[in-house]
Amino acid sequence: MNSTATTVLVTGASGYIAGWIIKELLDQGHTVHGTVRDPNKSKSVDHLHKMASSAPGTLKLFKADLLDVDAFDAAMQGCSIVMHTASPFIIDGYSDAFEALVRPAVEGTRNVLEAVNRCSTVTRVVLTSSVASVFGDNTDLKKAAKTAFDENDWNTTSSVDHNPYQFSKVEAERKAWEIQKAQTQWDLVTINPGMVYGPSLTTASNSASIDTLVQMGDGRLRTGVPNLGYGVVDVRDVAHAHLLAAFNKDAKGRYILVNRVLTMLGIAKILRNTFGNKYPFPRMQAPKLVVWAMGPLLGPVTRKFVSRNVGHIVKFDHSRSEQLGVKYRPIEQTLAEHFQQALDDGLVKKRS
Ligand code: NAP
Repeated sequence: MNSTATTVLVTGASGYIAGWIIKELLDQGHTVHGTVRDPNKSKSVDHLHKMASSAPGTLKLFKADLLDVDAFDAAMQGCSIVMHTASPFIIDGYSDAFEALVRPAVEGTRNVLEAVNRCSTVTRVVLTSSVASVFGDNTDLKKAAKTAFDENDWNTTSSVDHNPYQFSKVEAERKAWEIQKAQTQWDLVTINPGMVYGPSLTTASNSASIDTLVQMGDGRLRTGVPNLGYGVVDVRDVAHAHLLAAFNKDAKGRYILVNRVLTMLGIAKILRNTFGNKYPFPRMQAPKLVVWAMGPLLGPVTRKFVSRNVGHIVKFDHSRSEQLGVKYRPIEQTLAEHFQQALDDGLVKKRS
């Protein structure tokens, strides 16, 4: 990896994944220009200043909202690489999915990349996309008559009404490739992670990553979990992949970042192996019919989502990420460290 010290813009610097990206960049001596919506919100940025104070690199924060057309120009001055991580990652608590998810994701990507077009020093953009832009529902795998999703696949089944977060990610990634292909100054590499777990450097993130682990630990899922499998990966592996994508000249195209596919019950079993029986980790799968009937009453789960995902196998080919240089750490360690942090932060009450 050629990582001679340079200046890198990281959008959404306050985020869960961005925290680890910025730590690795600062530890390698790079200058990081981070954008946040509010640089004075100490809860969101204190951890960044703290890590910069003891690292060889330098951090400068800039104010930028995804929806402001010119917000990223000042932060981009002098940067050779742009890592665009900012995008709403919320699965609940909004009334208008387009305004909450799709508009900021797509317009934000356009605003960042049009600023790149105005900034002649940038030669590479790394976009934090998702497996959500590779597929929408687990049943898409069977429909495609494939054994595993790979980087040639695109999500064609999500919409603003069905899986709006997934839709926001695929629309944003498509917009990014469209803008990239219209010019020759910079190239684009996308990192497409599955569900990201692992310790957070910030307590302020709204990332949906921690929600399932908390629900498993506090007993809300005691009566059973859906037979739902999804790809999982460690946050530090995702962050490292961003640096590999940025500094490896041969990096090209899309990279799926998934270590393993686990079911919710599989995650519960791993947690029980480490933390024992004192926490009410789920022990059984709820029948699909019950999940179908109850899901919409319990949260943002629709019957269409249940039909197309629960009980359906999903698999990923992650060989391109290994060719890039990613060495996945054991997912048992990832989950144990993340749950331990939920205990230490008081998100789940400690039991003796
Ligand atoms: P996160 O902690 O919630 O970070 C999201 C970041 O986006 C925050 O810094 C947030 O800034 C920023 N943001 C949201 N709306 C914004 C707006 N209107 N203007 C400016 N900034 C805005 O979530 P994360 O898990 O680190 O996610 C980072 C990226 O990874 C996202 O693109 C997400 O789609 C992608 N991803 C995440 C996962 C996962 O499992 N976590 C998996 C695949 C892909 P504020 O601090 O101002 O709110």
